[in-house]
Amino acid sequence: MKEIVAATGNRGKIAEFTATLTPLGYVVRPVTDFGSIAEPEETGATFADNAILKARYYADLTGRPCLADDSGLEVDALGGEPGVYSARYAGENATDAANNAKLLNELSRRGDEARSARFRCVLALCQTNGSVLTSDGTCEGIILLQGRGDGGFGYDPLFFLPDYGKTLAEMTLEEKNSVSHRGRALAALVVKLGSKVT
Ligand code: IMP
Repeated sequence: MKEIVAATGNRGKIAEFTATLTPLGYVVRPVTDFGSIAEPEETGATFADNAILKARYYADLTGRPCLADDSGLEVDALGGEPGVYSARYAGENATDAANNAKLLNELSRRGDEARSARFRCVLALCQTNGSVLTSDGTCEGIILLQGRGDGGFGYDPLFFLPDYGKTLAEMTLEEKNSVSHRGRALAALVVKLGSKVT
């Protein structure tokens, strides 16, 4: 089995990567298996910059192929915020609950504007020879006035998909993977990969 290090300690993301990559013969190992490696600063201006920066950093330090994602939520009524700041929207080390509360608060101040939004994800896989493959995916939806469901993580309870009549937090992991930004980016990466992980 080929090992891929996932450049995240986020259990929701690890579960999503594992569900797709394990049936293809990969063992997904969280970077936390490799001791306490300091996280790199996400200094990129775009999701792609940050994904590539993280994949290179952890591939160098672990000596293994490394898969990193950078993802976030873009809300149209907020001019694309929180975007690359999604994880720290309510401040450094903010909880999901605090970020969701801030999002609802910002939107409530904008009255009845359309709450259209999308999750965007860029994945970067840095191989042991230093080459990097990237892919991206998006998922369109609407921000609800109140959360629904207790699955997933982050902004999932507020993110409603009209075609499915559910929030991402009301979906099973399999359903979420089939429609989510990360699931789509992962599917695109798998196509690019073939059997090329080195
Ligand atoms: P990242 O971990 O640097 O990619 O930051 C992404 C942030 O965007 C996360 O901390 C979440 O707040 C949010 N996010 C990314 N993907 C998802 C998702 O699938 N569901 C809900 N929130 C997400």
